[in-house]
Amino acid sequence: MAPITTPPVIVISGPSGTGKSTLLKRLFADYPDNFGFSVSHTTRPPRAGERDGIEYHFVTPDHFTQLVADNKFIEHATFAGKSYGTSIQAVKDVVNQGRACILDIEMEGVKQVKKTDLNAKFLFVAPPSVEELEKRLRGRGTESEDAVQKRLEQAVKELEYSKVDGVHDRVVVNDDLEKAYKELNEWVMEVLQKGVAETI
Ligand code: ADP
Ligand code: 5GP
Repeated sequence: MAPITTPPVIVISGPSGTGKSTLLKRLFADYPDNFGFSVSHTTRPPRAGERDGIEYHFVTPDHFTQLVADNKFIEHATFAGKSYGTSIQAVKDVVNQGRACILDIEMEGVKQVKKTDLNAKFLFVAPPSVEELEKRLRGRGTESEDAVQKRLEQAVKELEYSKVDGVHDRVVVNDDLEKAYKELNEWVMEVLQKGVAETI
C-alpha cells in the first residue's frame, strides 16, 4: 500500500533573540495557506500583545504537569525556568488543514522530535554573533535581567549543539533580515515541494 502523504513538519530552532519569530511571522503572512504554526503550551506569562491560543497556550504549572502525565505532548522541556511543550493536538490541527506544520522550539525539544516518526526537517537560525544576540534580546525589551542572563547561557549551548554534524538540515545566519528571510523562504519551499511521506 502506498504511504499516506502528509504535509511536512518543519522544526525551527535557534537561540532566544536570534529572530525566529520575526522570520516566521513574515512567512505566515506571505503564505497563509501553506504553513501553520504549532501553538505550544507554556508556563511563562504572556508578553504584551501575546494572545492565548495564538502565540502560545498559556497554562499554569499544575495544568502543564497534568498534560505531561496524560501524555499529551510530542516533546516538552524546561527553558529559562519555564515549561514549554508541543502537544500532539497542536501538530494535528495544522496537518489536518493540509498545511506544513512549523514548530519553533529549543534544543531539548529538537532532540525529542528527532526520536519520533514525524520525519521532520530541521532549520537552525543563528545570530551573527553572541554580542549581537544580546543586543537584540535586550532591544526586544521583554525580559528581566535575570531572564536575559538565563537565555544567553542557554544560547551558548544551542550554538554548540548546532555545530554537531547532521543535527540540522539547514543553518541560516540572521544578520541581514532580508537575506535571512530569502534563504529561509527558499529552503521551506523546497521542503514543501518535496513533501514527506509519513503519518503522525
Ligand atoms: P526569537 O523569536 O528568536 O526569540 P525575535 O524574532 O523576537 O527572536 O527577535 C528578537 C529581536 O531582534 C526583535 O526585537 C527583532 O525585531 C530583532 N531582529 C530580528 N531579526 C533581526 C535582524 N536581522 N537584524 C536586527 N534585528 C533583528
Ligand atoms: P519564548 O519564551 O522566547 O517564547 O521561547 C523561549 C524558547 O522556548 C525558544 O527557544 C522557543 O523556541 C522555545 N519553545 C517555544 N515553544 C516550545 C515548545 O513547545 N517546546 C520546546 N521544547 N521549546 C519551545
